[in-house]
Formats: sequence, structure tokens, C-alpha cells
Amino acid sequence: MIDEIMKVAPSILSADFCKMAEAIENLSLWNADLVHCDVMDGVYVPNITFGMPMVKALKGYSKLPLDVHLMITRPERYVGKFCESGADFVTFHPEASEDVEGALATIKSYGKKCGLAVNADVDLEVAIPYLSQLDLLVIMTVQAGFGGQSFKPECLKKAERARELRSELNLNFQIEIDGGVCPQNAALCKSAGADVLWPGMRCLRRKIRLKLSKP
Ligand code: ZN
Repeated sequence: MIDEIMKVAPSILSADFCKMAEAIENLSLWNADLVHCDVMDGVYVPNITFGMPMVKALKGYSKLPLDVHLMITRPERYVGKFCESGADFVTFHPEASEDVEGALATIKSYGKKCGLAVNADVDLEVAIPYLSQLDLLVIMTVQAGFGGQSFKPECLKKAERARELRSELNLNFQIEIDGGVCPQNAALCKSAGADVLWPGMRCLRRKIRLKLSKP
């Protein structure tokens, strides 16, 4: 079943890396539903963030599920390790993988939720063959790998199409919007079919409520 209340999964990318424990505790206080961990490898995307040891450390402090978004090349090599490190959700980019089916199966074999992410410059078509296997479909509204970009509303067409396909094919995956989400565009995301929003922590720090009740 698709949850009827929109969830928020703030990214820890904008947190102070020296105060991660405090940041994680604050996310619980601020009513986040998930903690979004952006993993970048410097190959699939031009930036590098953190890897399994950080996820393992966060798991020790977080009461919330960890939502790990892998922006890495050949994610099939690492999805199992992230599951072992405490990820509850593992999402990767299909065009970066040489074995999408294998990577999805590995995540499921650990009893974790699996997802595919569609980058801002990538067509939804890359994910369509796998929709029946997914728990999550992430539609990116910025180009993966950089912080502080402005939201690209044209990417929401992919969320609308995914919602149609979900209904036509009678599937259950959640649709998540990742990148540049803020209170000004949250309603737009929801009307395009989003079930989960991934804002940066700064949005929550300003005590802006992004949760939207079902109309
Ligand atoms: Zn992300």
C-alpha cells in the first residue's frame, strides 16, 4: 500500500560532518521519517562524500531508517556492503550499473528495500524494465553530485509518468523526489505523484514544515 501521508527524508549532506550524531538526533526531533544519505564516489558524479563506515556510524545513532542513495559507478559491487552497514533502503542509478537485476536481488536478499534513481538528465525509460521489482523510484530534480542547485520542475513529468505506470501495471513502489525540494515546490511535487520528499537539512532547520496531509 502507498502511504497516504507524504514523508520527508532529509539529506545529511548539508549537516556539519563533525556533529553527525547531533544532526541525526535533531532529525528525529524535527519529525523526519527517514535519514537520506547521499553517497558519491567521484566517478559517477564529480564529488566524493562518504561510504560504508559513515552509514555504519549513523546507524548507531539513528532511530530513523537510513535511506542510502548511491551515486556510484557499478553499484552492484557495494550494495551488499551498504546493507551490512545498516542501510534500510538502498537506491542506485541503473545506467551506472552493469547488473541492475543482480544489484536489486542482492538488496532484497538482505531483507532491505531497493530503489532506482533517475538522474535529471536521464530518461525514465532506464528504470521502466525494473519497475515491478522496486520499492522506491527516485526522480531527481537536480543533477546528481552537486549541492545548492535550483529545482528543475520539468523533471516532475517523469514522476507523473511513473505514477501512471504504477497504476496501469498495478505496482506498489513509492515515488520520491530528490533535489532542490523546499516548501515553495513541495505541493507541486505532491501533485506530480510524490510520496516522499528529500529536502536538505537546512529546510528543516528553519523549522519549515514540509509534511503535507492528504487533501
Ligand atoms: Zn539523494
